[in-house]
Amino acid sequence: MLTVDVEEWFHAPEHPLGVDVAQWDRLPPSLPSAIDRTLGLLESMQVRATFFTLGWVARKQPSLVKQIAQAGHEIGCHGWDHTPLERMDSDAFRLDLARSRAALEDLLGFSVTAYRAPRWSMGRRCWPYSILAEAGFKISSSRLCIAGLGLGQSHPRRIDGVLEIPAFSARLLGIPLPAGGTLALRILPLSWLRRARHRQTARRRPAVYWFHPWEVDPEAPRLRAGALFTAVRYGALQALPARLQALIPAGDRTLSTAARALEYG
Ligand SMILES: [Zn+2]
Repeated sequence: MLTVDVEEWFHAPEHPLGVDVAQWDRLPPSLPSAIDRTLGLLESMQVRATFFTLGWVARKQPSLVKQIAQAGHEIGCHGWDHTPLERMDSDAFRLDLARSRAALEDLLGFSVTAYRAPRWSMGRRCWPYSILAEAGFKISSSRLCIAGLGLGQSHPRRIDGVLEIPAFSARLLGIPLPAGGTLALRILPLSWLRRARHRQTARRRPAVYWFHPWEVDPEAPRLRAGALFTAVRYGALQALPARLQALIPAGDRTLSTAARALEYG
């Protein structure tokens, strides 16, 4: 399954120079053209994806969110302004969910039931799931089983009434890597990526891939920082669309539809 995190090129809390929320309104948006390119790519692939969208984006660019939904994709919630869970207590998380979900639902006129935590910050935490369930969420794709993120759950599991479908990780030389993520998709050999996907589907586990709209838009502005940051964030970006086309079959469905079909939902 393919997922897209709908955020701007400057929504990068890991950026060494930092981009303060107060500056966001003054930066040029990339999403209008990046969403066009993303929707065109998905149409050419004949897949339906789940777009985890910030409440901030719904407020600033409402027509884009409608455009995504009208193209037949699922809209999920990615929090209000990409604040990771480690910076929120349960009350702050409840407020963040209520605010971002309301912004999306007021715009769309239907329920938003899928959630992704910013920056894979769910880690091994379990306390957020009862709050997600209370807020009406049914599915989450907020975990990534790699070193540095707690090496937690790598298969779908129901937690406090919410089905967690972790993003796709796979082992290379015994080390779990983010096999569904953009850096691995760009730099690892296609043969390994294909084998990893095959192993995952043979075990009847969903392979959840992810990328950001700015990654498929060569005209999106870039953050300026050191060589390592630049290589990790922007290296071989031009390879991404072809990798997605090679790995994700036509007819692939949204997380919620696939979960129901797999009888997880
Ligand atoms: Zn994100």
